[in-house]
Amino acid sequence: MTSIHRSTTTLADGREIHYFDAAPDSGRASFVDGRALPPRPPAGELRYDALRAEWVAVAAHRQTRTFLPPASECPLCPSTPQRATEIPAPGYEVAVFENLFPSFAGPAGHTLDGESLSPRRPAAGRCEVVCFTPDHGSSFASLEPRQVRVVMEAWAERTAAMSGLDGVEQVFCFENRGEEIGVTLHHPHGQIYGYPFVTPTTRRMLASAEAHLLRTGRNLFADVLAAEAAGERVVAANEHWTAFVPVAARWPFEVHLYPHSHVPDLPALSDVEREAFGPIYLEVLRRLDAVYGVPMPYISAWHQAPVRTGRDLSYAHLQLHSARRAPNKLKFLAGSESAMGAFINDVAPEQAAKMLREASL
Ligand SMILES: [Zn+2]
Repeated sequence: MTSIHRSTTTLADGREIHYFDAAPDSGRASFVDGRALPPRPPAGELRYDALRAEWVAVAAHRQTRTFLPPASECPLCPSTPQRATEIPAPGYEVAVFENLFPSFAGPAGHTLDGESLSPRRPAAGRCEVVCFTPDHGSSFASLEPRQVRVVMEAWAERTAAMSGLDGVEQVFCFENRGEEIGVTLHHPHGQIYGYPFVTPTTRRMLASAEAHLLRTGRNLFADVLAAEAAGERVVAANEHWTAFVPVAARWPFEVHLYPHSHVPDLPALSDVEREAFGPIYLEVLRRLDAVYGVPMPYISAWHQAPVRTGRDLSYAHLQLHSARRAPNKLKFLAGSESAMGAFINDVAPEQAAKMLREASL
């Protein structure tokens, strides 16, 4: 039984920071943030798109956020006596803190005045930053399984905690990796969004799952896993997880990673499942980087059940995709994908799975 220890304190402007450590009594929360920080920016607002029936967050204050600072000015490295960062402690294993430039923040609010077709309301919710390692030059793929175990604990604990916050309807843990897809800080990190609504992609998948349940009496995600686990698109597998390229992958390289047990979210994973995640996920990331011998830009996204709806239909799993379609070429979302949501993939999913399996590690 692995136990990971959390300690919590607040930054100078009142934002929470949590340290996750394999050893108890790290003492990290005793380090005080001595910076003089300006008041936190006001929350943005949500505007309703009546045509698509979905909310858009307008967060104009994010335009001023830190953009690719040199390593000597990285806000995610531990603090030193010479330089205070977002993390007051002189070291950490995994640190999670509230984003200085959140797209969603604060408790649920009342609808603001707006045009009748497009109501507006405060962009309530929560945005947190997860620092995977204190090592600035590292990457998730370079972590040890024991470090991934601490990250997993942070994801699960923050999912449980944020699910209990007023106004949060869905918790999304993700990592954007690579300048190619707009990452603004090089330090290995991910983010956790607590949305004040159920996201469009999740709503759509749950509608499919509900229709499938009515038609067959079975869970859609479990059926997809069973079909893929027996097929030619499996990339890696162990006793508790299977990674595969989905039959209708939309991206040149896309891998879905499912636990073998049907759970709604990360807090519901057992200790052995959490333990078994690191080795297989690291293998997937290393295979991705090995395909072309260059680091792959990617978006890695945990799909979890919403807080209040569709929990029985949901099946926690990770979807990762890369836009790299050749060593020096990226797939961009052009007319068909951007305007119509109709994807055209230049790489056959079976070929992508074969390339990933045969990449030499
Ligand atoms: Zn750094």
